[in-house]
Amino acid sequence: MIPIAKPMIGEEEKSAVIRVLDSGMLAQGSEVKRFEEQFAEYIGTKFAVATSSGTTALHLALLACGVEKGDEVITTPFTFISTVNSILFCSAKPVFIDIEHDTFNINPEKIEDGVTERTKAILPVHLYGQPAKMDLILEIAERHNLKVIEDAAQAHGAELEGRKVGTFGDVACFSFYPTKNITTGEGGIVTTNNEEIAERVRLLRNHGQKSRYEYAMIGYNFRMTDVAAVMGIEQLKKLESFVNRRIENARFLSENLNGVSIPYVMPDVRHAFHQYTVMHDRRDELRERLIKEGIGCAIYYPKCAHQHNHLKKYRNSELRIAEGIAKKVLSIPVHPGLSREDLEKIVESVNKHCKEL
Ligand SMILES: *Cc1c(COP(=O)(O)O)cnc(C)c1O
Repeated sequence: MIPIAKPMIGEEEKSAVIRVLDSGMLAQGSEVKRFEEQFAEYIGTKFAVATSSGTTALHLALLACGVEKGDEVITTPFTFISTVNSILFCSAKPVFIDIEHDTFNINPEKIEDGVTERTKAILPVHLYGQPAKMDLILEIAERHNLKVIEDAAQAHGAELEGRKVGTFGDVACFSFYPTKNITTGEGGIVTTNNEEIAERVRLLRNHGQKSRYEYAMIGYNFRMTDVAAVMGIEQLKKLESFVNRRIENARFLSENLNGVSIPYVMPDVRHAFHQYTVMHDRRDELRERLIKEGIGCAIYYPKCAHQHNHLKKYRNSELRIAEGIAKKVLSIPVHPGLSREDLEKIVESVNKHCKEL
């Protein structure tokens, strides 16, 4: 089976982890701090604050932006569920705006339809590694005095006009789950140029503790461990080569696939290709056939957020593009662990089955 995702763990990660285990200092400490400094430098922000997951990074980023009960946060319905959960954790209300059919990201032209006097923030997602249209989103945010939180969980290394995602909003969040572009097992990080936001995230992730047993606010235990952080440090060194491999693999697929609609890449963008996602009208049949041939493919995501029963009450506008696309998307392997033979096998199988379907 060619897997849909494969964490790329080498000797460097293994020996770094053993070094931390031998040190006896396992929880958040100097390695987390080192990882934060290096990640901030890579992304190009003043601050980075590591957390226990991408989900907890989002939760704390929203809290640090002052999102609270009764507030509304504008986001996309076509995303991983934790984007939406992070809004609900703050007792705020998600306001879903339909996506663009080509980029799969939130449609900036429709965002203002969702703005009310309760709107606090816009939460765009760089889905599959393609940057959302941040210039337009930031313009709208400025006009209405809204915070912008980037969900960059799938977009480590992606760029828009030569600038890395994670630097555009007031704050941004990344995930280091094993399927993501780099991993720490579980983990996440918040990036920002705003010192106040960084400080609030630091407090919130550690019980609200300002100094030893002095608490400034209610907080959580959302810390990253030093064991995870050293993995992150080693992975970060490899991130550029991983992303370049993803881009090369995507290029090979796009040049050779027939019968499916291939991913659109915006001009002036470095698509990080967390996923390589095609569309086909008979997606479910195509998926079954590919799985049978040993090609691990997957549907991200079979349902939009507002199509889950407990979230149906938040469907307050037309979301037809997102609903239609959820029926057609199929992600096929693009990760850096693929060999040339793997790529050729994927192309051959997809093309053969598309001809038959
Ligand atoms: C993976 C992911 C998250 C959550 O990250 P975890 O580390 O799994 O908590 C959030 N948003 C998106 C778009 C993701 O893909």
